[in-house]
Amino acid sequence: MKAGERILIVGAGLSGAVIGRELAEAGHRVEIIDARSHIGGNCHTERDEATGVMVHVYGPHIFHTDDEEVWGYVNGFSAFMPYKNRVKATSGGQVYSLPINLHTINQFFGKCLRPDEARAFIEDQADKTIADPQTFEEQALRFVGRDLYEAFFKGYTQKQWGCSPTELPASILKRLPVRFNYEDNYFFHKYQGMPENGYTAMIECILDHPNMTVTLERNFRRGEEAGFGHVFYSGPLDGYFDYELGRLGYRTLDFERFTYDGDYQGCAVMNYGDVSVPHTRITEHKHFSPWEEHRGSVCYREFSRACEPGDTPYYPIRLVEEKAQLADYVARAEREAGVTFVGRLGTYRYLDMDVTIREALDTARLYLARKAENAAMPTFLHPPL
Ligand SMILES: Cc1cc2nc3c(=O)[nH]c(=O)nc-3n(C[C@H](O)[C@H](O)[C@H](O)COP(=O)(O)OP(=O)(O)OC[C@H]3O[C@@H](n4cnc5c(N)ncnc54)[C@H](O)[C@@H]3O)c2cc1C
Repeated sequence: MKAGERILIVGAGLSGAVIGRELAEAGHRVEIIDARSHIGGNCHTERDEATGVMVHVYGPHIFHTDDEEVWGYVNGFSAFMPYKNRVKATSGGQVYSLPINLHTINQFFGKCLRPDEARAFIEDQADKTIADPQTFEEQALRFVGRDLYEAFFKGYTQKQWGCSPTELPASILKRLPVRFNYEDNYFFHKYQGMPENGYTAMIECILDHPNMTVTLERNFRRGEEAGFGHVFYSGPLDGYFDYELGRLGYRTLDFERFTYDGDYQGCAVMNYGDVSVPHTRITEHKHFSPWEEHRGSVCYREFSRACEPGDTPYYPIRLVEEKAQLADYVARAEREAGVTFVGRLGTYRYLDMDVTIREALDTARLYLARKAENAAMPTFLHPPL
């Protein structure tokens, strides 16, 4: 391999854009293709013409990180506005604060408990007969007891994953999901914010380099890698092999869009815990840009269901069956030369944006280092299993 290599990147989301930028800056000629008609992947944002509201087209995206370098990186391509993710939940006809905190506990049980009292109270609620929880339901019952479990976890989880919490592993709920203070900021990370003009404008700046071209509405087909020094593929791992070993399980989302004249719900995200309500949440997009003013409003009612051929894959399921199939795909991929699988779809993992960028920077750097040593690039830098 020599400097100025021709590199193909499949996907103009964050993974593809960041890898492409790093390699373009190092003097390589980077060609990015994306099957969609826009850049940005699932982080894509678009201004609604009628209301002027910035819409998070594939669902709400809040940037949060502890990674200093990644925070510096994104701020190099967009101004970031302060934003705190504060989620509300409607359950049994009342509105509560999430994650479950002292306010939620006091409101739910009609009490005025102080932190230590609330801790003891929740311990009392917990089902201590469950010694070794195996399922999500058992774990939740052991942590918070039946009342909070049914109001905030049972229905939401059932709608989100399309199965009973008794069929999901306990490992999904690793820690006690309760705060014994009034802190309702969803994330604990040091940095949190929103790109001032949306994620697509930020990614457009990342892609803006003379050594890079972006072609939209171009679906990658195997065989296209010929003629390129290397391929970075951020599409679905099973899609690369034309699903020859079957389809990896994903959940997809349907968004029912509606507009409202005024403020529909007073917050960006309202979860719905009751199974009788078919949607999992409603997002009101203008609240993601609190520094802007808009009279009209754009909202999404969000529904979760099993991903079928032709749907957008959102959340990898990664239960026992999927992991066995994934192992087969990983073995299949390891036999390919000249391609590295990256990003949330290429490695079949849920990745927050900051992790996506961290991994993309590490991937590009490893490529440059391996190239300097004339050594091969691994198929996976971040193994899916
Ligand atoms: C509902 C939801 C909410 C989220 N909210 C947050 C949040 O609040 N905060 C946070 O940090 N992260 C959030 N994320 C995660 C975030 O979306 C990901 O970190 C990010 O999108 C990963 O970028 P990527 O480039 O790896 O993948 P993608 O964004 O999926 O990009 C992959 C691109 O590849 C293209 N592609 C696929 N196959 C082909 C092909 N065969 N040929 C050509 N192009 C192809 C696709 O069209 C797509 O544009 C959320 C994710 C979801 C699903």
